[in-house]
Amino acid sequence: MSVSFLDLKSVNNEMNAELKEACARVIDSGWYISGSELKTFEKSFADYCGAKYCLGVANGLDALTLTLRAWKEMGKLKDGDEVIVPANTYIASVLAVTENKLVPVFVEPDERTYNLDPKLIKDKMTSKTKAILPVHLYGQLAAMPEIMKIAQDHGLLVLEDSAQAHGASIDGKRAGNWGDASGFSFYPGKNLGALGDAGAMTTNDGNLADVIDHLRNYGSKIKYKNEFKGVNSRLDEIQAAMLSVKLKYLMAQTERRRDIAETYMKGITNSQILLPKVEARENHVWHLFVVRTANREKLVEHLTKNQIQTLIHYPIPPHKQAAYKEYYDLSIPLTEKIHQEVLSLPIGPTMSEAEVQLVIQAVNSF
Ligand SMILES: *Cc1c(COP(=O)(O)O)cnc(C)c1O
Repeated sequence: MSVSFLDLKSVNNEMNAELKEACARVIDSGWYISGSELKTFEKSFADYCGAKYCLGVANGLDALTLTLRAWKEMGKLKDGDEVIVPANTYIASVLAVTENKLVPVFVEPDERTYNLDPKLIKDKMTSKTKAILPVHLYGQLAAMPEIMKIAQDHGLLVLEDSAQAHGASIDGKRAGNWGDASGFSFYPGKNLGALGDAGAMTTNDGNLADVIDHLRNYGSKIKYKNEFKGVNSRLDEIQAAMLSVKLKYLMAQTERRRDIAETYMKGITNSQILLPKVEARENHVWHLFVVRTANREKLVEHLTKNQIQTLIHYPIPPHKQAAYKEYYDLSIPLTEKIHQEVLSLPIGPTMSEAEVQLVIQAVNSF
């Protein structure tokens, strides 16, 4: 038996008939962009997050980029303003900042949750700091009560990167409803994944929602009347229809991921493996199950021999990428160590109990 990292075909197979039916409905409708499928999905996803507004866009990166862009259009941010971002994140979080001519200020994470350490934020703040961009990395909500308190005390905007954390919550309040706005990705491999590219932003601010509604469509809401220099970033009807089907299954799939994570946490006893820290079951939706070891290459080799596929999220931090040469000389030691040691084990919602046990045995026999 071999265990694949994430079997998307089996994830989607559970709802195969419904997806095909929804697809046929869109084909037969003759309406493919900005129609009723989008409206329906936006309404259900806003409700899911507990937010007032949801606006579909082409992908997760655009959701983040357009939100910062909208704040510039609204006069809340300007070129050169600084944005606090976790140093250990997927590069998209940082690209959204630099694309807007804003300056990323990298902050180290908490060593066990891998999320932005709120205690380190104040030291990095200057008179130019205008926003915080916490990332709910691997599916665990960042320390949002503490982060929101800092933001309120200093008048900072908060944009959540919720691309990995659909449905994660603290005290019943979900990702997408903590900050001033939040960006989601529906990339196929995300917990809520389309059958292609898609993304959305959520907010409780009606003015912000209105600006994004323009920006995603050439800066225009009324045809041929352009209020802003916008872009083309829309969530297609067909993907919206797929997402409406898949949203109905998200809760059950998330519970399955949580069960697998609990089984891993109890079952993995190898002292060479550092397990993730989770504050409470509801905080984490386990987009990824990430362990750490000083001997990562050997562990990958051992698991591969045991037919278990693993991935690394992520091998190189943003400040060490060729794209960000200007930050190469920064020393961010914990982040750099984390990137050398992390390894993601399979945690797909359709994994069988036997597959989960196989992973545990293989990790323990390392
Ligand atoms: C996937 C991801 C994004 C970008 O989403 P896309 O839909 O691929 O553009 C942004 N941030 C994080 C943390 C992600 O994991």
